[in-house]
Amino acid sequence: MSVALRVNELSAGIDGKQILDGFSLEVPFGQVHAIMGPNGSGKSTLCHVLTGKSGYSVSGHASLNGTDLLSLDVDERARLGLLQSFQYPTEVPGVRLREFMLEAADERGIGDEVARSRIEVEGKRFGMERFLDRSLNDDLSGGEKKRSEIFQMAVLKPKVALLDEIDSGLDIDAVKQVAEAVEEMRSPDLGVVMITHYSRILRHLSPDKIHVMIDGKIVDSGGAELAEELESGGYDSVRQRLGIEKSRDTGPKQRPADFFTNTPFDA
Ligand code: ADP
Ligand code: MG
Repeated sequence: MSVALRVNELSAGIDGKQILDGFSLEVPFGQVHAIMGPNGSGKSTLCHVLTGKSGYSVSGHASLNGTDLLSLDVDERARLGLLQSFQYPTEVPGVRLREFMLEAADERGIGDEVARSRIEVEGKRFGMERFLDRSLNDDLSGGEKKRSEIFQMAVLKPKVALLDEIDSGLDIDAVKQVAEAVEEMRSPDLGVVMITHYSRILRHLSPDKIHVMIDGKIVDSGGAELAEELESGGYDSVRQRLGIEKSRDTGPKQRPADFFTNTPFDA
């Protein structure tokens, strides 16, 4: 089985703060892996470092389908097939979802005809037809926005999809819908990394593997039994079982920032 994403002993820090600390992971093509971790454990940082956001000091190794990622620019990584779920809950009046997708596909070198046909096919599969000619995210519920993100990924067909907190801020019905959409995403040409701190999505999703991330690294991996432990005892139960102290300072809370420029709103 070939490996979609391989991460080996990845460490990363920013502004003198060590966040990832020897993180390793292997996601084969065709599989969905869940990374579960409490707030501040470094989940979003992992996404940022893998997608190539600047500002981090990074060591270790990461590859996509055998190609080294860390030496590539952000857009090279995207064209290689690495995609993080879009996280713009912002509504964009005046830009229709269909136009937006055609442009995003063009940027990734997907021809117009192929893009149009994928938009039709995936639009049907994810029940997005009625949103295609409406403004991007305009008047969509939280769950519909997340489903839209998954639909957008299905059109762009990445090799590795990083879904960061795709279930946060959703009510339980919407979580179920998003979980079903993630299952629907499964493909032999794709490895999915679904990252979250809530265990509730695991009630509706059967990842091939569940990894628990604490203090910048994976401390335990398993299957359904780990989901059950998290559901009943939370991260404290895992910490206790593994003898991990709840000591590390989680640092300053990140200020709300503009998604595109990462400029804090109150700057
Ligand atoms: P998670 O997504 O698991 O909640 P993050 O990756 O966002 O965690 O953050 C991990 C830790 O790194 C937190 O303690 C956070 O405060 C800190 N951190 C994140 N970004 C920065 C930054 N730009 N500067 C300093 N500390 C940061
Ligand atoms: Mg996060």
